[in-house]
Amino acid sequence: MGLRLYNTLSGKVEDFHPLDGNHVRMYACGPTVYDYGHIGNFRTFIAVDLLYRFLHQSGYNVRYVMNITDVDDKIIRNSARDGVNVQQYTGKFAQAFLEDSATLNIEQPNLVRATEHIQAMADFIAELAKKGFAYRTDDGSYYFRIAKFPEYGKLSKKDFAGMTDGARVDVDEYEKDSARDFALWKAAKPGEASWETSIGRGRPGWHIECSVMSMEQFGPSFDLHAGGEDLIFPHHENEIAQSEALTGKQFARFWFHVRFLLVEGQKMSKSLGNFFTVRDLVLRGHKPSSIRWLLTQVPYRSQLNFTFDGLKAAASSVEKLRHFDFRLSTPFPAGANPEMVQLAAETTARVKRALDDDLNTAEAQGAIFDMLWKVNTTIDAGQVFQDDIRPLRDALRTFDEIFDVLKDDDKDKMKTILDWARADGRENEISPALIEIAGSDQLTDEQVDQKVRAMEAARKARHFKTSDALRAELTNASIIVENTKDGVRWKRKSYKASIRPLCPVAIKLNQWEVHAPDHDTWGIVSCDSCKDKFALGPNRIYGSHTTPEDAVKELEDLLKADHQHGRPHADSYELKG
Ligand code: AMP
Ligand code: ZN
Repeated sequence: MGLRLYNTLSGKVEDFHPLDGNHVRMYACGPTVYDYGHIGNFRTFIAVDLLYRFLHQSGYNVRYVMNITDVDDKIIRNSARDGVNVQQYTGKFAQAFLEDSATLNIEQPNLVRATEHIQAMADFIAELAKKGFAYRTDDGSYYFRIAKFPEYGKLSKKDFAGMTDGARVDVDEYEKDSARDFALWKAAKPGEASWETSIGRGRPGWHIECSVMSMEQFGPSFDLHAGGEDLIFPHHENEIAQSEALTGKQFARFWFHVRFLLVEGQKMSKSLGNFFTVRDLVLRGHKPSSIRWLLTQVPYRSQLNFTFDGLKAAASSVEKLRHFDFRLSTPFPAGANPEMVQLAAETTARVKRALDDDLNTAEAQGAIFDMLWKVNTTIDAGQVFQDDIRPLRDALRTFDEIFDVLKDDDKDKMKTILDWARADGRENEISPALIEIAGSDQLTDEQVDQKVRAMEAARKARHFKTSDALRAELTNASIIVENTKDGVRWKRKSYKASIRPLCPVAIKLNQWEVHAPDHDTWGIVSCDSCKDKFALGPNRIYGSHTTPEDAVKELEDLLKADHQHGRPHADSYELKG
């Protein structure tokens, strides 16, 4: 079976075949770079990333283009407000988009930018005007005449019969039932960014860029056009009208729309203020791999409700997969178990079947976890052998070519965001959990795996000096290595510690379970007046020159000062050290 996809245009799940043999041309509407993207935006971008990867894995040669909207109403307004030009304003957020995409392992599409196509848009509009599909108003703006395009509404399934010819709307985003001529070109206004072109001075409306840039890349017709569900109307309806009016040919054949990410039942959006960016979540100590996994768990055509419990569960799933991968890398006795080889083949087939079925990611993940459970119990029973490992690992790798969470590079990515937060004046948002993961020299799972493997190899080769040294290194890093009858396993030592590190400097006594191998307390400072207790921690939270005595003294003074001024104690104190 080949790929079947839901096509918004036909309202049906259809067999997917590209127009041109093996060659797929797909276009996705990218971000409007007026701010940091939120994880709702990234739900859409990750869904398209999965589609792209799966097409590629299925043997297609895919050309994937995404636009960056670097001029629109909001950008014009914000750049004018900040007194900078459009490019200065959007540069930072376009860069942030690329960084956040990389953080989430989104493969980079071929990017095209609206501001680099202004004259091409003007030419396109002039052609539309020549054919009678566009008209110019007195101020020099241009509108699309929807009465001249009877198929208007075919994507969004809206019936616009009886609309008033000539009624206009000049904002980029408008009500869902608005059957009005939309702006293709807005004449220059004082104080707003504008460009000099063959149709006059002004700036493009939002919709024209995607028609112009996709057709520049692909010609009049191409295979697939993607975006979030909110783009169906008016954005994509308008793209179809502009493009098909100009060429008389079908524009995109498949329309792929991703349902919204919700927060407590409401759509996640900037305007509702209920959004999280990738950086917000990392600052709270969540790993990029957990975010990626969470956003792929629900198939793209169902709404996904964001919760922190869901994010924690995603972290644990990724952890299980990584540990499973590690387990398969340890030595096994010679031999083969035909059941395991068959399980690997079946799993790969099941993952493919699931993804072929309109990208059913939940079913694909279910298949890989079924394999994980079965293999783990079979390993426990001593029935997995050397020759089973290759097919099992291949099945896991094939799955990971799409989902991409096995590689453990979370810590480095989190460190980058930690450094960014410090440089960007967002220290107060850095959580203890982030410091714990990214601010320490803790070994990553991958590094531990490598050292454990090296230790085993050294032991087998009877290089005991090397294996002892590696074991000591692991012990120092609070890794417990166990030799079980099924081979070597490791886990991290975790402490039931009564301290909670508070960024940046003080540690308040609190009953939290923390993984804090190097958080030995220096001492506990009690407030004389209220008996509140504060624990003071290791020197990596202070400057290395700070002595415990100095820190204790300073904290005592601060606590006293609070009482003298009648203030409650703060949650954390900046100590000078
Ligand atoms: P924008 O930056 O607003 O142009 O949006 C970029 C992409 O994110 C578009 O494809 C939107 O449809 C999509 N998008 C916006 N909000 C959400 C959401 N809550 N869930 C999923 N996709 C979204
Ligand atoms: Zn678009």
